[in-house]
Amino acid sequence: MKVYYDFHIHSCLSPCGDNDMTPNNIVNMAVIKGLNAIAITDHNCGENAQAAIDAAEGLPLTVIPGMEIETSEEIHMVALFENVSQLLKMQDIVMANMPPIKNKPAIFGEQIIMDKHDKIIDFKEQFLITACGLNIFEITKKVRELGGVVFPAHIDKTSYSVLSNLGSIPDELEFQTVEVKACPVPQNIVDMANLNKYNILCNSDAHYLWDISEKEHYIECNSPDIKDILHNISLYI
Ligand SMILES: [Zn+2]
Ligand SMILES: [Zn+2]
Repeated sequence: MKVYYDFHIHSCLSPCGDNDMTPNNIVNMAVIKGLNAIAITDHNCGENAQAAIDAAEGLPLTVIPGMEIETSEEIHMVALFENVSQLLKMQDIVMANMPPIKNKPAIFGEQIIMDKHDKIIDFKEQFLITACGLNIFEITKKVRELGGVVFPAHIDKTSYSVLSNLGSIPDELEFQTVEVKACPVPQNIVDMANLNKYNILCNSDAHYLWDISEKEHYIECNSPDIKDILHNISLYI
């Protein structure tokens, strides 16, 4: 079956994410748009994932718990997990390697943690949009050890991407999948990164409700279950 997706969406937990990116608003917007599966991927943190999963209960939408991790090389990586417990283990690893900087909400924006009813239950103190101390190799290894799937984010961006910061996608990481923001991918990027050998996901990297993808991009899966989706996008080794 075709699973229409958007696997890179920020909630109000990301300081740069709009405060209207609440669990219920995201989930309902995805359903209105006709998507079958989304992932919540806040910067270096996964604490709104459970609320979004709960908010989608009874709706025809799969919500995958994830996060967008910034490596020590300032490369953004999307990590997706089968369950929130794996995600929070990864968050612990990332947090233990973050510089101890507190968020300044007035400057960077609030980092809001919500429950499934969009009620504010906390504000994350640790400043989330900064690099952690683990490099792309370490992050990739840790995510896979936990059973997650990881792929380089928005490789067509001129900053915070594996291409902008390393110049190429290291073969030894054995990625099968990469993410782009713009589809179709410009030919110069296809050539530069030898993209023909990868599966390409086109995600929105939405920070505002209206940025969430339309029903445009799909992957073929046996079912819309998280396991099948992750298997499909992770075909590494
Ligand atoms: Zn990013
Ligand atoms: Zn992002």
